[in-house]
Amino acid sequence: LPLAMALETKTKSVVSELEYTDDNVNIGVKEFLRQLNEGLETSGTSMSQIPTYVTAVPNGTEKGLYLAVDLGGTNLRVCSVRLNGDNTFNLTYSKAPVPKSLMVADTAKELFAFIAEHIKAFIKEHHYDHYESHIRRRETMSTPEGYRDEHIFRLGFTFSFPVQQVGINKGYLIRWTKGFDIADAVGKDVCALLQVEIDALRLPVKVAALVNDTVGTLMARSYTSPGKAGALLGGIFGTGTNGAYIEKLDKIKKPLEGDYDKTTGEMVLNTEWGSFDNQLNVLPNTSYDIQLDKESVNPGIQMFEKRVSGMFLGEILRLILVDILQDKSVALFRDENSNQNDWKSTTTIGTESGIFKKWGLDSSIMSVAALDSTPDLGTLRQELESQLEVYSPSLEDAQAFKAIADAVGRRAARLSAVAIGAVVLQSGNLTDAAIDSNEPIDIGVDGSLVEHYPNFRTMIHEALKAIDGIGEKGAERIRIGIAKDGSGVGAALIALVAASME
Ligand code: ADP
Repeated sequence: LPLAMALETKTKSVVSELEYTDDNVNIGVKEFLRQLNEGLETSGTSMSQIPTYVTAVPNGTEKGLYLAVDLGGTNLRVCSVRLNGDNTFNLTYSKAPVPKSLMVADTAKELFAFIAEHIKAFIKEHHYDHYESHIRRRETMSTPEGYRDEHIFRLGFTFSFPVQQVGINKGYLIRWTKGFDIADAVGKDVCALLQVEIDALRLPVKVAALVNDTVGTLMARSYTSPGKAGALLGGIFGTGTNGAYIEKLDKIKKPLEGDYDKTTGEMVLNTEWGSFDNQLNVLPNTSYDIQLDKESVNPGIQMFEKRVSGMFLGEILRLILVDILQDKSVALFRDENSNQNDWKSTTTIGTESGIFKKWGLDSSIMSVAALDSTPDLGTLRQELESQLEVYSPSLEDAQAFKAIADAVGRRAARLSAVAIGAVVLQSGNLTDAAIDSNEPIDIGVDGSLVEHYPNFRTMIHEALKAIDGIGEKGAERIRIGIAKDGSGVGAALIALVAASME
């Protein structure tokens, strides 16, 4: 079967194009460190290294009831968090997909009103006593100011887009990412935009803290597993990717404008590593990466994110599949009994399949591919039928799909190791004689990709071992743990810090 042979050859060549070797990892780490340090010197660099004015991580004894809202990208989450003060918490939450129409609009009002409505519904459902005694009364008043604020919920607003933060609850949107595009909101204080809509509904809620999800993840990891040193890094691998870590104040050379506690000698920085290497000095750049970037809403930026995060992995895979489908000499998703030359009429893919639509292939099917290691790839083939309208996919079809999907996922994990490894080296924790050489270096992560993609963390660890200055021994000390609901708990913790400063 020459066509099937051709598919195997083509698959191998794509897989090798996607290979990201140990050497590549090391070159990546060096450049990451260079750009990380550049961001400490001045603003306007590729990685923004945004100061958060959070100068310490929690130790697990914090207490109280807080609200948290998380606008991550794909979903809006509203939750309440009860911190019990013993490293544990109780979390109640609701989740709703963000309508596409609100992500790309002329004004931001609809998006923030949507969030406020969800906060109201949440309080009504889960804190009815609070709703009855306060919200009802407040709703009947002519102005929100007339109401005594002693029962006001403090809310931590996790807003995971690049923001120029100028205080603990004030920050101006720098730019949208992850497919959002609402020009009207750029340059505005996102906390104020939300507070206006909350007040319009007369809710007894104060937006107390602006939280980046990475910072929340770092805080949550520190609260739930306080080692001697707390966690070093919080990383997100979901719709997008980003990380926040603790940096020594004396290394931050650019001016810090807001007020902050100087006694700890440290500050959490939001790296915005999604835009690591926008200049493409070291990032892999296949024809598929180039095409994806060209057709995105923000060409030339978030170049690291476009190779790593959930929003983009499916699309890279889709572009590769479309490229192969257009090659007449290769039999992918074809009706073998048909002799026509036009691939569109011989293909076994339904016309409504996501394979033909931009963003039509969700990264989650890559998890199905990675999980299925049976000889006949039955689960994957079923999923190709149900999710992507590929009718009766052959074993060869599924094998090609799996090999390419695995290669895209593996490259993403190894690129993630570049970011994590570089931050570990930057901290000096591996070489610092003052730190017990057995002490774990704790890293909290969150996001569907790192949580659900099989072996994502194992592949990261493999690559960490190959990094000069880390090696097998260093990698053993690096503990990467899921900070489940990290952004919710983290937001509550930062709202608590903010409330204590009011
Ligand atoms: P957000 O980052 O918006 O808060 P998530 O962490 O849930 O939300 O990430 C959603 C992203 O993760 C989407 O891009 C989705 O395609 C991707 N995703 C969801 N489930 C999986 C999975 N099982 N494997 C790989 N990617 C996934």
